[in-house]
Parts: sequence; structure tokens; C-alpha cells
Amino acid sequence: MTKVATITLNPAMDLVGRVGEIEVGEVNTVETLGLYPAGKGINVAKVLADLKVQSTVTGFLGADNKGDFEAEFAKYGIEDKFARVAGKTRVNIKVTQEDGEVTDLNFQGFTVTPADWQAFVQQTLEQLKGFDYVAVCGSLPRGVELADFKAWLEQLNALGCKVIFDSSNKALEVGLQANPWLIKPNWRELEVLTQTKFDSIEQVLAAARQLNAQGITNVVVSMGAKGSLWVTKDFVYQAQPPKITNVVSTVGAGDSMVAGFIYSLVNNLDPEQTLRFASAISAYAVTQGNVGVESLETLDPFLAQVTVSKIA
Ligand code: ATP
Ligand code: MG
Ligand code: MG
Repeated sequence: MTKVATITLNPAMDLVGRVGEIEVGEVNTVETLGLYPAGKGINVAKVLADLKVQSTVTGFLGADNKGDFEAEFAKYGIEDKFARVAGKTRVNIKVTQEDGEVTDLNFQGFTVTPADWQAFVQQTLEQLKGFDYVAVCGSLPRGVELADFKAWLEQLNALGCKVIFDSSNKALEVGLQANPWLIKPNWRELEVLTQTKFDSIEQVLAAARQLNAQGITNVVVSMGAKGSLWVTKDFVYQAQPPKITNVVSTVGAGDSMVAGFIYSLVNNLDPEQTLRFASAISAYAVTQGNVGVESLETLDPFLAQVTVSKIA
């Protein structure tokens, strides 16, 4: 059986809501969609559980409010290998406006001590032996050094795990030096990484090709409603998702896309089917207030409306 783990070093309780338009400096009334144990890797694991793909989750959880997470993992049947550290897991506020634009207010949570980190590295290198896919998702908590993070990613590679890496800013920049097997930056994250402003999909493609040439086997760039590109040395695919007129929240679209890739890899779908599936599930996600999918059948109309073309 294919073994999958997702790693969330800096999880969060996500307070998700919707507002007409945010007025900065004013009182804004927000329709609450929910408060969920989240963080990118946890979201991926939840979507995978809905798709009947078993996964193990790890990372750090604050001991003070671990109960909500533990209950969520139990509910989804997700194997919990999170390290507990002193303090609280943070709360993030995510508010979607009517036009689909999301505003994130990310707070800070616990701090990882050098001893916590050392124990975590040892623990993961033991636990993840023999794992096929390890998705490392999201930002770094306070206390984790970039150089240590990179060294650990290299050790995961050395274990033989295919590392799927979805991060941003400095963590993305430094993590890339460890040559993860698959990355999924969004348009903006790629702009920040390459210090370039893209005016066209051609420019995004050129940047993705460059990363592939530098040693990243699979470069997937997501572009929100504009779809996605998947660059490898053998092919380039482009996907256009269905037009979604009822955007509820784009929170977790990228995480659903990562889960869609893992599902497809585990089920040996071909590249065209893989990008179609990842696009369909991520497009479906924006019609929902939370990540997850009731059943595979729910995705049928989305699968039918995705266009995938091989452009190289
Ligand atoms: P996240 O906030 O979860 O990290 P992201 O910014 O990494 O998301 P996006 O590029 O916004 O990821 O979206 C990922 C995928 O979700 C897109 O490639 C697309 O398939 C789908 N998607 C996102 N927004 C829309 C939309 N408005 N309409 C249709 N599909 C969408
Ligand atoms: Mg986005
Ligand atoms: Mg993302």
C-alpha cells in the first residue's frame, strides 16, 4: 500500500468567514462559516481522508489547545504523529469577499525550541521510513531555523520519500534548495520567489521551466481562476477549471489541489487525468466554506468541465 504523510509545522485554528467587501478601519460584519483545526498539511490530509486515502499527519501542535485537533483527526481517521510543544496553536482569520478575494490575518502561536526541533527531526526520520509521498505544507513556526529546515528536507529526500512541498516566501526559497520532488506555488508565490511581476501565463511558464531545469522534477503552478500549469522534463500540461460563479471561499483551493495530486498518484492516474482531477477538486473547493468533499461523485460535473491541454 502506498504510504502518505502530510507535515504541518505551523498549523492553525482557521476562523473562516465571508463579508461583502472589507472596509479597512471600519466595523465589518462577517458571516461566520466555521472554526476548523487546519493548516495546509492538515487540510490535505482531511481531503485525502474524504477520498479514502489513508494518511499520517505530523508537525507541531501547541499542548494548550491540542484537543480540537485530536478530535478532528479521530473524526477523519487520520493517524496523528504530531509532536506536542508548550503553548498554543495559533488562530488564523480568513475572510472571503463577495468577489472571491481572501484576506488572511495570520497570528503567531507557539515557539519551537531547539530541543523540540531536534526531537522532531529524529522522530520524523524514524517514522517516515518507507513512506512514498510526504507533503510538507505551509509556513515555519517561530524558532525553526531556515538552514535546519532545509537540512531536514534533504534528509527526507535521502529516506527515499517523494517530497511534495507547498510553502511561500523564505521557507519556499530555502526549501527549494533541497530539490523537493513536486512543488505547487501559486502565481503570487512564484512572483515573490523569482522577484518578477508576471503579466502573462507565458512568463509564469518560463519561470516554472526554469525551476524544473534547476532540479525540481514536478513544478505545478496554480493560478486561481486562470487554472494551472504542470511542468516536467517530459511534458507541460495546462488546465482551465470550470468557471465558478458562486465562489464561497477560496480558502483551501491550493490544499485541495495538492490532495488531488496525491490521490491521483496513489491511484496511478495518467498525467492528463491527474491534472484534471486536481483541477476539479480545487475548483469544487471554492464552492465550499471548508475543505473536503462528500464523495467522488460530487466531483463528476467539475471533472467534466475542466479543460486539460498538453502544450509541450
Ligand atoms: P491556498 O489559499 O489554498 O493556498 P492557492 O493560492 O495556493 O490556494 P490557487 O491558485 O488560488 O491556490 O488555487 C488552486 C487551484 O484551485 C487553481 O489552480 C484552480 O484549479 C482552483 N481555483 C482557485 N480559484 C478558483 C476559481 N475562482 N475558479 C475556479 N477554480 C479555482
Ligand atoms: Mg490563491
Ligand atoms: Mg497555496
